[in-house]
Amino acid sequence: MKYDNYRCPSCGSNLDIDLDNLKKYCAYCGAKITFDTDSLSAILIEREKTKQYQAKVEAEKETRIFENSGKTSAVMLCVVYICLAIILVTAFITGAIS
Ligand SMILES: [Zn+2]
Repeated sequence: MKYDNYRCPSCGSNLDIDLDNLKKYCAYCGAKITFDTDSLSAILIEREKTKQYQAKVEAEKETRIFENSGKTSAVMLCVVYICLAIILVTAFITGAIS
């Protein structure tokens, strides 16, 4: 995961911060990097927020799919009823004529 707000203090390159495996040296210039706890906790909070947001978006997507499938089956039911009505009316008329 990449955080643009964390830059190498020596060369200014954006650093890829893997929180599970913190690199101690810049990949570009080799400068030693010290992570201050304030920045790290900010990143952790941001990551947690992103995770929660993604979970929310995912949940909303599932709700929408469920709602759409409900609507679709209601429409299908209407179509079936209309077809049945047409068949019944046709049968009635045909029966009445002959
Ligand atoms: Zn650097």
